[in-house]
Amino acid sequence: MSVGVLALQGSFNEHLAALRRLGVKGMEIRKAEQLEHVTALIIPGGESTTMAKLAEYHNLFPALRDFVKTGKPVWGTCAGLIFLANKAVGQKSGGQELVGGLDCTVHRNFFGSQLQSFETELSVPVLAAMEGGPASFRGLFIRAPAILEAGPNVEVLADYSVLKDKATSYKSSAESGEEQTVSEEKVIVAVKQGNLLGTAFHPELTADTRWHSFFLKMAGEAGDQSSSCSSMAEEDLADCQQPRPIDLPIFQ
Ligand code: GLN
Repeated sequence: MSVGVLALQGSFNEHLAALRRLGVKGMEIRKAEQLEHVTALIIPGGESTTMAKLAEYHNLFPALRDFVKTGKPVWGTCAGLIFLANKAVGQKSGGQELVGGLDCTVHRNFFGSQLQSFETELSVPVLAAMEGGPASFRGLFIRAPAILEAGPNVEVLADYSVLKDKATSYKSSAESGEEQTVSEEKVIVAVKQGNLLGTAFHPELTADTRWHSFFLKMAGEAGDQSSSCSSMAEEDLADCQQPRPIDLPIFQ
């Protein structure tokens, strides 16, 4: 079994590094025919419009759709999640092509611009039950999308509460004598639907490899991890044998 990482743009190197830490050598995918050599695929974060243009240029969409349809495990992180969604809103005018397959509507830049990027502790009971470790996961949201609607076969693995001002502005509410109210909106940020996994945040930018390990289990690789580890080069092997603290990001 082998795992591919779509390497057109975005954080593909970081995904490859996370896989290496689990003893798995991922394969960079840039051409449709390379997909024939992998049994699972990660679509990284980055910029979904740019990634879609590059995928179109390399005529990758038909092969990516076939990959999803044949039931092979695919994990989309952030821009990759947008790629996998059946429907995206908040796209640039003219929209963009999607691979689809995940019965979800995503909002492309739900949390705002780069400046509104943030980190938060997400509650991840399913992940913790499968992989052990803390019941929370440090979610890095970078111009992140959110899932607004999910179909009946979609399992929600994490959600996030956003506080929203109901009053249009403090001044207008003060003038009208209304109390300013704050409402809570829950959005979905991690899902699984059969062979498909989607996360709105970037696990590959943290040292916590539990989502990668979870995905490898989906890909049926869990049992192979030690053998892949032994087939790796010396320096990679040293890296994958080093336990890392799971609560610290790689980049500080
Ligand atoms: N919202 C971005 C997009 O549309 C994705 C951001 C990310 O992958 N960090 O492409």
